[in-house]
Amino acid sequence: MTQAQLEATLHDLTGRLAEAFLAEPFDQRIGQQVGGELVAAHIASAEGLGRTVEVIQLRLVRDLGLVTDDADDRMARLLATVATGYARALRDRTLDEQEAIRRAAMVARAHAERALRDSEARFRYQANHDPLTGLPNRTLLTERLAAAIARPGDGADRVGVCVLDLDRFKVVNDSLGHQIGDLLLITVGERLRRSVGEHLVARLGADEFAILVERTGRTEDVIRVAEAALAAVCEPAVVAGHELTVSASIGIVEQPVRGTTPGELMRAAGSTLHWAKAAGGARWSVFDAERNQRELDRYALSAAIPAALERGEFLLDYQPLTALADGTMRGMEALVRWRHPERGLLRPDAFIGLAEETGQIVPLGGWVLAEACRQARDWPAGRGGAPFVSVNLAVQQVRRPGLVDEVGELLRRTGLPPERLQLEITESTMMSTVEEPVRALRVLADRGVRIAIDDFGTGYCNLAYLRGLPVTELKVAGEFVSGLRAPADDPAGRTDERILASLVSLAHALDVTVTAEGVETAEQADRLRAMGCDAAQGWYFGRPGPAEQHLGRSPALTGTTA
Ligand code: C2E
Ligand code: CA
Ligand code: CA
Repeated sequence: MTQAQLEATLHDLTGRLAEAFLAEPFDQRIGQQVGGELVAAHIASAEGLGRTVEVIQLRLVRDLGLVTDDADDRMARLLATVATGYARALRDRTLDEQEAIRRAAMVARAHAERALRDSEARFRYQANHDPLTGLPNRTLLTERLAAAIARPGDGADRVGVCVLDLDRFKVVNDSLGHQIGDLLLITVGERLRRSVGEHLVARLGADEFAILVERTGRTEDVIRVAEAALAAVCEPAVVAGHELTVSASIGIVEQPVRGTTPGELMRAAGSTLHWAKAAGGARWSVFDAERNQRELDRYALSAAIPAALERGEFLLDYQPLTALADGTMRGMEALVRWRHPERGLLRPDAFIGLAEETGQIVPLGGWVLAEACRQARDWPAGRGGAPFVSVNLAVQQVRRPGLVDEVGELLRRTGLPPERLQLEITESTMMSTVEEPVRALRVLADRGVRIAIDDFGTGYCNLAYLRGLPVTELKVAGEFVSGLRAPADDPAGRTDERILASLVSLAHALDVTVTAEGVETAEQADRLRAMGCDAAQGWYFGRPGPAEQHLGRSPALTGTTA
C-alpha cells in the first residue's frame, strides 16, 4: 500500500470512528470493524497498531475537536474495541495463513508422491525390460523364476527354461550393419512372443533370449515350446528390404523346482545351449546332469594347468623313431604326462584336447618345447648320430606370430642344433593353417628345423598340396599300419598295404621321408621295411618312457620293452 492509499484508508476509518463517537446512542462495535480493516490493510505489526491508534486519537481529538463530557470514556472504549478487533482479525489472519500453508503443503506432497510413483513405475519398467525389443530382461526373468521356485506347491512342482541363441548372428551384424541386426532382433523377439503363447519370453542380451515355462508336467512340454520357438525363428524374415533366414539353438532344462535356484537353472540351460551349438546349431538340447559334471571336471582340470606348470607336475616321456633299414634310432618323440597330485599319472588324452579348447595349450606346449630342447641337447650320439627330438605343436602354437622367435631363442639358449629339432604338426592343423603361419614354418625349415606332418591319413590332405609346404617328414597314422597286421591274404589288409606303399613312393618323389606310427609287431615292421618306409614308431620298437631308457642301446634288436 502506498503512503497516499494508507492516508486515504486512515482518513476513511477515522471518519467512521468520528461518526460513531458522535452517534447517539453510542455504539462501540464499529471499533471492531475498524480494527479488522486495519489488519486487512496490512497494518499488522505491533508498532503499526500503536502508531495507528495514536494517529486516530490525534485526529479525533485535535483535528475534529471531539471532546465531550463522557468523551474520554467513549474515546477509550472506542479505541479498546479497535484494539480488540485488530487482535482478533490478526489472529484470524494468522490462522488462515497457517491453514493455507498447511493445505498448500498437502497438495505439494500429494503432487510429489504421484510424481515419485510415476517415475518409480517408469524406472521399474526400465529396469525390468529390454529397451530394444520391449521384452522382459534377465532381471525380470530371474524374479519370475525365483517366484516359481518359491511358490508353495504340493512339492511336485516342475519348471522349465529354454535359452535360445541365434546361430551366426554376428554375420548379419558384420555384413549388413548393426541397425539391420537390431531390426532382426526385434522381429525375432516378436515372433518368439507370438509363438510360445502365455510363457514369458525375455531377452538376455545380444542375440540371446529365454523362455520360462512354468508348472510343467515333464520335459516334453518344454521341448514342444522349444520346437515352436525354433520354427518361428527359422521363417524367412524381410528386414529393411533384406530377406534374412536365421536359425537358432536352444538349451533346455526342465526339472522339479525343489532344491534348485534361478542361477543354477540358468547356468544349466546355458551349458546345454553350447551342446546344441557344438552339435551344429539349428536344434535344441536337453540338459544332462552327468554330462555337465564331466565337463565341469574337465574344465577344472584345464584351469589347474597354470598352477601345475608352476609346481612342475608335467614331465616328458619319449618314444623312439627307429630307422627300418638298420634299426638305428633317428629321433625320439616327446609325449607329455601330468603327475596329478590326486588323479595320478595322466595321459595327454585326458588334458591336451581340453587345453587346446581353453588356450592353456600355449603355455603348456611352450613348456614341452623348451623342456624337450633342454633335455635333447645332452643326448649322446649313437650309431646314427645324436637323435633329434620330435615335439608336437598344437594349432594355437603354430598360429602364434612369435613362433619363429620363440624357437630361435630356444635353440640359441639350449645350444641344440636346428637339425635335432622336429616339429610335429597334425594334418588337420596344416590344412587349416593360412599363409602367415606356413611362412613361419618355412623360415624354420630353411634354418634346418625338421617339420613333420603328424597323423597323416586321418584328414583330407593330399600329397599334391604337400608340395607347397615346408615338410620334411610324413608320420602315417597308426590306423593304416594296423591293417598290416591282418594275414597277407586278407583283402582289406592288402588294400591298406597298397595305399601305404603308394604313399611311400609318392612321398619319396616329393623328397619327404615316411615314418609309420603304431607299429606293434615284427611282421608289420617287416612289411613296412619291404615297401621302403623309412622309419617306424610303436610298441614293437619301444614304449614311451624316460629318455635314458632308450638311449645307448639298439631297440630294433631287442624288440618291445614294456
Ligand atoms: P601322437 O602324437 O599320435 O602320439 C602317439 C601316441 O600313440 C602316444 O600316445 C603313444 O603312446 C601312442 N603309441 C605309441 N606306440 C603305439 C603303439 O604301438 N600302439 C598304440 N596303440 N599306441 C601307440 P600318448 O602318449 O597318449 O599321446 C596321445 C596324443 O597326445 C599324441 O598322439 C599327441 O597328439 C598328443 N600329445 C602328446 N604330447 C603332446 C604335447 O606335448 N603337445 C601336444 N600338442 N600334443 C601332445
Ligand atoms: Ca605326434
Ligand atoms: Ca601321431
